[in-house]
Amino acid sequence: MFENKENRTDLSTLGEFGFIEHIAKSVSLKNASSLKGIGDDAAIIDNGNKMTVVSTDMLVEGVHFDLAFHPLKHLGYKAVTVNLSDIYAMNATPHQITVSIAMSNRFSLEAIEELYVGIFMACERHEVDLVGGDTTSSTSGLIISITAIGTADKEDVVYRNTAGVNDLVCVSGDLGGAYIGLQLLEREKKIFVENPKIQPDLEGNDYILERQLKPEARKDVIAKLKEQKIKPTAMIDISDGLSSDLLHICKQSDVGSAIYEEKLPIDVETFNAATEFNLDPLICALNGGEDYELLFTIKQEDYEKIKSIKEVSVIGHITEKNAGVSLVDKSGSIHPIKAQGWDALLE
Ligand SMILES: [Mg+2]
Repeated sequence: MFENKENRTDLSTLGEFGFIEHIAKSVSLKNASSLKGIGDDAAIIDNGNKMTVVSTDMLVEGVHFDLAFHPLKHLGYKAVTVNLSDIYAMNATPHQITVSIAMSNRFSLEAIEELYVGIFMACERHEVDLVGGDTTSSTSGLIISITAIGTADKEDVVYRNTAGVNDLVCVSGDLGGAYIGLQLLEREKKIFVENPKIQPDLEGNDYILERQLKPEARKDVIAKLKEQKIKPTAMIDISDGLSSDLLHICKQSDVGSAIYEEKLPIDVETFNAATEFNLDPLICALNGGEDYELLFTIKQEDYEKIKSIKEVSVIGHITEKNAGVSLVDKSGSIHPIKAQGWDALLE
């Protein structure tokens, strides 16, 4: 399957996406029902009448969350949400989840019950059933792996690789809040570790804290798009950041894009907190990640209809591939978008 390599390759040289591409190269789908495999927000399985939509996400303590500031109830909620977000990003409806956890004896039954309270809250909100999973022990941290299963009609499924030139680029909600929320939590944790007598100062930052600790999956936006009879031409959820996720759409659709700084939705609380941290709110919006908003493209003729959905902003358009993927700033200057940042500001 894999070539025999004499040299040892560090995984870090590939990165997450490079690793996924590397594995995907060795996968060939043999069942006709495996309509879409690796490479989108979720896999699509053709069952005849309906498509089954499947996505898995794993959250690892110390990598994806820090229990010093992440309440277990919120963590349970978030673990479900991030999976359901991938199902919505295929324009599908989630119905079931399985939950697998690995935990050490550091956790009491009561602590794990708290985690499940959050899991059940998310299930109730999104009308999904917990139908199974696995539990095992872990020598150190907590690991939560959730698989979400949904359905969609074949003609309703929206992929990443189908954006067309001149389509409009849209995003739901606002961006950068989850990232700046994390900066605030990490700062307060550091202060607390250095001096436990100082209580965390989190006042007036409810919105950005919630964006980080208890994000929402945009079921409402998917419903409104249906209501307005808009079918996106391509869609992805924003887990890695607007830049990175827009690049996924463009790369897979073989197109370019221009998005406009002045059109990017940034909440005032995000803006103020970023400024307080000496961070550029624009960079937080572009590269922050974990917003779990929907990034999608629509046909130009749907412009009037999309304007009626107040949760959605039109931020740019799709161009020919050779025009590249870029941000047009407020003065009209054009900056190429890179996966890990907006190069002009990283210099
Ligand atoms: Mg995704």
